[in-house]
Amino acid sequence: MKILVINAGSSSLKYQLYDMTDESVLALGRVERIGMDAAILTHEPTNKPEIKEVSEILDHTVAVRKVLDCLLHPESGVLSSIDEIDAVGHRIVQGGDLYSESVLVDNDVKAGIRSLYDLAPLHNPPHMMGIQAVDLNMPGVPQVVVFDTAFHQTMPAMAYMYPIPMVLYKKHKVRRYGFHGTSHYYVSRKAGELLGRPVEDLKLVSAHIGNGASITAIMEGKSYDTSMGMTPLEGLMMGTRSGDIDPAIVPFIMGKEELNTTEVNFMLNKHSGLQAISGISSDLREVEKAMNEGNENAKLAIEMYDYRIRKFIGSYVAAMDGIDALIFTAGVGENSATLRQRVCEKLSFFGIELDLEKNEIRSGEPRDISTPNSKVRVLVIPTNEELVIARDTYNLVKNK
Ligand code: ADP
Repeated sequence: MKILVINAGSSSLKYQLYDMTDESVLALGRVERIGMDAAILTHEPTNKPEIKEVSEILDHTVAVRKVLDCLLHPESGVLSSIDEIDAVGHRIVQGGDLYSESVLVDNDVKAGIRSLYDLAPLHNPPHMMGIQAVDLNMPGVPQVVVFDTAFHQTMPAMAYMYPIPMVLYKKHKVRRYGFHGTSHYYVSRKAGELLGRPVEDLKLVSAHIGNGASITAIMEGKSYDTSMGMTPLEGLMMGTRSGDIDPAIVPFIMGKEELNTTEVNFMLNKHSGLQAISGISSDLREVEKAMNEGNENAKLAIEMYDYRIRKFIGSYVAAMDGIDALIFTAGVGENSATLRQRVCEKLSFFGIELDLEKNEIRSGEPRDISTPNSKVRVLVIPTNEELVIARDTYNLVKNK
């Protein structure tokens, strides 16, 4: 069975085609700048020549058509007919409290995703464009949606409720949902495999540190608490997002700087975090480089970034009354040995002891980087959200 995984953003569409007989990736790629004058399509088939094309791509429907053309291309294609694609799986950011697992798309599910537009105005509408583009280009092919929020639906109310008037929860569903759930789910299962123990017996803290970043406390295999909230803005300091700040700052700066809600949202999401404090970049590599060259703002940005990661790890150890393993994943978590070292150095109170040599090894494989004496295992686990989407899609369509 072949499954196409799609992650549709407002002006981009990423894809991976899986052969589920061995879970191999036949091709992957992305379309960027959809709707702008020169869209860029990159198609990378396994063991075949890459395609890079700049052309006008008006909308997501045209983008999906172009992707299908690439998959059928005489030299760079991997299919002889589109009918070989048995199903399509989509990443959906916000499932609210409607979805605690992946589901097959039907009219009710489409209405459900639309009903969550208010909660995720930047994400759910483009996801829906992706679903409609598949409807138009591949009529009748079953589609499955996999939600970033689903894994966190197990959080207890004391973790997901905000201490503000209850009416806001009842009327507008203001609560913590959490994100990166597919990633936290995947790495927690891999951690169980790596440690040779059932995930249900473990207390895990998983740190998904990429451009966006979140930390999750996972107990009995379930999400117990997570650092992102009603939106992906809450929690850790990120590349361009502020993470936690005093909420009273928002009305204060809106008044002082005469900002409207759109502007203040933009500032907190796109002009804050590492970028704002370092004044250099949202990319940790560049900020680290500047710090090593003596830049004081870069140093402060990194101290704040690390400090907040450590505080969340510590608070989740307290929340779970223990920790068996700490997991690092995503762009920064998987690749930055220095970040891992800086964070773990000050967690020795918990019995966390990093093996500095193992920490430096780059293998792309799940691995334990703690010393044999460390009371807590420290793991680096490359995440694979697309594979989870492909598997969920396969499981929901295989008996149809
Ligand atoms: P996204 O949230 O966009 O999915 P990723 O998980 O792909 O992000 O992470 C991308 C980020 O990873 C980049 O912004 C970059 O800062 C960071 N990154 C990648 N490699 C390294 C590295 N070796 N050291 C530090 N940061 C890195």
